[in-house]
Amino acid sequence: MGSIFDSLEQHDYGEIHFKRDAASGLKAIVAIHDTRLGPALGGCRFIHYDTDAAAITDALRLARGMTYKAALAGIPHGGGKSVIIRPRTQFDRGAIFRAFGRFIDDLGGHYITAEDSGTGIEDMEVVRQVTEHVTGVKPEHGGSGDPSPFTALGVRRGIEACVKFALQRDSLDGVHVAVQGVGHVGYHLCREVHALGAKLTVADIDPLKAERAQRELGAEIVSLDAIFETECDVFAPCALGSALNDETIPRLKCKVVAGAANNQLAEPRHGDDLMQRGILYAPDYAINAGGLVNVAAEVTGYDEARSRARTMEIYDTIYEIAERAQAAMAPTYRIADTMVEERLAAVG
Ligand code: NAD
Repeated sequence: MGSIFDSLEQHDYGEIHFKRDAASGLKAIVAIHDTRLGPALGGCRFIHYDTDAAAITDALRLARGMTYKAALAGIPHGGGKSVIIRPRTQFDRGAIFRAFGRFIDDLGGHYITAEDSGTGIEDMEVVRQVTEHVTGVKPEHGGSGDPSPFTALGVRRGIEACVKFALQRDSLDGVHVAVQGVGHVGYHLCREVHALGAKLTVADIDPLKAERAQRELGAEIVSLDAIFETECDVFAPCALGSALNDETIPRLKCKVVAGAANNQLAEPRHGDDLMQRGILYAPDYAINAGGLVNVAAEVTGYDEARSRARTMEIYDTIYEIAERAQAAMAPTYRIADTMVEERLAAVG
């Protein structure tokens, strides 16, 4: 990384905030990418970083992604993300998160925090003691609970849109879905599509999770490698990032790729590869926004039915992306980016 301002320019940024609190040992960064659509919303990571530069880069990269996800989901928020550098020596977790809460409060609602890797509901409860600009708290404090079922609902809606567009089928009855990773979102996704008559094949590094899908939903289990080669209608990556790369794409035997994982394309050009192979790809940040829609609802007063209705609309977003991609003969990931840029430009 060069200078801080070079880095801001490279990631197309205006704002980054730093806080060091000597008493608690807090070292935190808040990156605010864009607030044209509303206050920045995004989770707080609490993990180890080898260098301060790595922490800054992580915050900048993630916050930008949040701008795109929120804009496409149509929620009134910009993109932000925070990072607390996890100390390598003993620390007082409560003191760190109280200090972090004061930092967030000083930003006056310009950034609203939430859970992310390394943080949980208890941490957000500590943050809540010192600031109102926090989501992901307990339901009795207006929290929305586990986002995974909402993420899965949105992915199911995205799959329905892709199946309609690519296979001209109005229902998932008899549609074969291969799910890579049946953790929080993957399992709920399996339940969603199974309830609509889909046939399931699953793979997970944790055999107990795969077996649960087999036992409860009649899923066929295949190896971690074989999931890519499963002859199916829809391949749903729901594990880690970069599932779509030079090695895996040539092996795919599906017509649609639509899943929950973040950063599914190892590089943007892999979205072009999928298009060339006639595979319809639902851009990750467009299809997996259900959890964000749900958590954002906490800001205005949580209403589960309204969150559900908003998440159902992911169908329309994915269908529009597919239509525009076909008309422009362009890859879907690029169309999704264009739609975000149009929405941001419209507010000036
Ligand atoms: P999770 O950790 O609960 O589930 C991931 C599952 O993938 C685990 O069961 C794990 O054993 C399995 N796995 C890991 N590597 C694998 C491999 N190589 N092959 C097969 N299985 C493998 O996580 P999650 O909350 O379900 O999230 C899944 C993905 O969706 C992540 O990329 C996450 O960033 C993204 N996402 C999640 C949410 C949410 O609401 N939880 C929202 C948006 C995006």
